[in-house]
Amino acid sequence: MAETESAPGAQEFIPPQADTIDELRAAAAGCRGCELYRDASQTVFGRGDESARVVLVGEQPGDLEDQKGLPFVGPAGRLLRRAVDDAGINTGQIYLTNAVKHFRFELRGKRRIHQTPDRVHITACRPWLVAEFARLHPEIVVVLGATAAKALLGPTFRVTKQRGELMPWPAAAQHPEDFARVPVDSDGKVADAPAARLLATIHPSAVLRADNQDVAYDGLVKDLRVAARALR
Ligand code: SF4
Repeated sequence: MAETESAPGAQEFIPPQADTIDELRAAAAGCRGCELYRDASQTVFGRGDESARVVLVGEQPGDLEDQKGLPFVGPAGRLLRRAVDDAGINTGQIYLTNAVKHFRFELRGKRRIHQTPDRVHITACRPWLVAEFARLHPEIVVVLGATAAKALLGPTFRVTKQRGELMPWPAAAQHPEDFARVPVDSDGKVADAPAARLLATIHPSAVLRADNQDVAYDGLVKDLRVAARALR
């Protein structure tokens, strides 16, 4: 697949009156903000408790997620859930989403091979992430891997250098103003977002690809434990 240069973006598909994640999810099903909707099966929106204390942001849905329409249900998702549990975070207190909400892949024969989203896809899809955060009130935001880090923290952030480090949210975001206010009611009243913290770590698929999966898994759990301890 050739690199895409521009895309209209998701903003025009987001109904301003959407108060809940369910309403956003319904609207995202019809998003045409970039070309990824054409080859993927469906939009894979975030899921979890709207009052989740921890929001985890990954890259994009994988093959299985694309088929099922749910994020983090494939092998990487199972590994992530185990790591969250091993870190001492209640898996019932999490909300899971991705920076890009359609599966980007390349066809090789009948196989659909994952392709990392380009910057244009991350930028096009970012309004959905902003809209999700406007309706969530996490205490901790966990950024999983480089694509999510680019979406939230900008292109210069290096997960390998700053993983496991607690940072102020949304002050650490590339455009903190996008995340600083949350709607209070459907009349458009807004308030300051509650103080939260952000932590970056590797994507669980990086554990699955690692030469030494045990070491990589332990590193992921160690980072997540920092988040677990920060929960008030
Ligand atoms: S990847 Fe995001 S911006 Fe692109 S069509 Fe899908 S939901 Fe819309």
